[in-house]
Amino acid sequence: MLTNDQLAQWDRESFFHPSTHLAQHARGETATRVITGGKGCHITDRDGNRMLDAFAGLYCVNVGYGRPEIAEAIAEQARELAYYHAYVGHGTEASITLAKMILDRAPANMSKVYFGLSGSDANETNIKLVWYYNNILGRPEKKKIISRWRGYHGSGLMTGSLTGLDLFHRKFDLPLAQVIHTDAPYYYRRGDASMTEAQFSAQCAAELEALIEREGADTIAAFIGEPVLGTGGIVPPPEGYWEAIQAVLQKHDILLIADEVVTGFGRLGTMFGSDHYGIKPDLITIAKGLTSAYAPLSGSIVGDRMWRVLEQGTDENGPIGHGWTYSAHPIGAAAGVANLKLIDSLELVQNAGETGAYLNRAMADALGDHPHVGEVRGEGMLCAVELVEQQDTRQAFDPARKVGPQIAAALAARGVIARAMPQGDILGFAPPLCLTRAEADEIATKTAESLREVLG
Ligand code: PLP
Repeated sequence: MLTNDQLAQWDRESFFHPSTHLAQHARGETATRVITGGKGCHITDRDGNRMLDAFAGLYCVNVGYGRPEIAEAIAEQARELAYYHAYVGHGTEASITLAKMILDRAPANMSKVYFGLSGSDANETNIKLVWYYNNILGRPEKKKIISRWRGYHGSGLMTGSLTGLDLFHRKFDLPLAQVIHTDAPYYYRRGDASMTEAQFSAQCAAELEALIEREGADTIAAFIGEPVLGTGGIVPPPEGYWEAIQAVLQKHDILLIADEVVTGFGRLGTMFGSDHYGIKPDLITIAKGLTSAYAPLSGSIVGDRMWRVLEQGTDENGPIGHGWTYSAHPIGAAAGVANLKLIDSLELVQNAGETGAYLNRAMADALGDHPHVGEVRGEGMLCAVELVEQQDTRQAFDPARKVGPQIAAALAARGVIARAMPQGDILGFAPPLCLTRAEADEIATKTAESLREVLG
């Protein structure tokens, strides 16, 4: 058997890790962590450490680790038929069944599901479909996409452009010209502290409308947003936000893409975030929770009004010129079917709502009125702790102090994995949806201990 040292050496010499400080890692300044197993909300590494994974991998292992039902469905599919393509009307029992199961659970007026492999490629698909749609409708100028600062939609060329985080643009020549950004609905970081949530939502909508008018509504095709901002800091929308935004979009005939890669399949305590906030999207992006990451699979759920135009387009132009070799991969589809069945039978959507609310309360109680806790916020099984230098002025810490990463490291030393979110000193929690109250208590207690260790 390979030693840990040997693996670490090969890792440094051979493996290009995503979202990693490449130079530090190659020099051996950051550790190689080899994960070997998982059960429920816990993972184990090759050194024998057992950790409570309070971020469910990358908020994706929603049913928890080590579910034999999904493993067996994957194995059976691999034995029967590991692969066949989905072009020109081909499919498998698993992919057809999964499309139907998704639509049965989706918000109203959704028509079809296109399958991809990742959240990023699903959003690439969505933007192509939006452009195709406006070309078929004879509006070739209506092409720009509005996204929000702090939104996260992937890290491809278009999706990295949609993502509103500086790290994903800098030195990559992004964002592309077709993408423009509007303000994040980040109530805690509002400029005018006296504003109510409703006033702040109205201001976000007014800024969106001003942007549309500056650019010209006839140049704007779609608006994309996560129901709850995820990687940008786990920020639930202020009261009335989605209602106000949708009114502006409708007025200017702009399509709405709900990016539900994180919120889809139960994380907010409802099957979709769109149901939670009364969002009526034209396209929905799904990935992560679709298979609980047991196999790579994503999807674009296409609404009725777009679908009609796509059909018209192929009548006029021939087959749609879009597809991946691995679209609707049978192994991913088999994992998806088994995963959605488990979500139902274990009542995980309900647990996400109930235990998620419990986690948020436990976190707020454990942190109490610590002077460096600016805000504890969340929705369903999402929770964030924003750390500040000064509570009353909401002044942030100097980023060079790396307060968030330090606390996350102190927490990891106590056996709990949280995520130091990439922009701001924000600790993020997005555990598997099967979290128990005892595990929620452990996360909250250990977060408070870690925070006191680092900040006193
Ligand atoms: N959209 C959202 C909301 C996400 O959170 C992510 C990933 O975290 C993506 C899209 C991109 O998904 P992927 O990393 O699978 O490409």
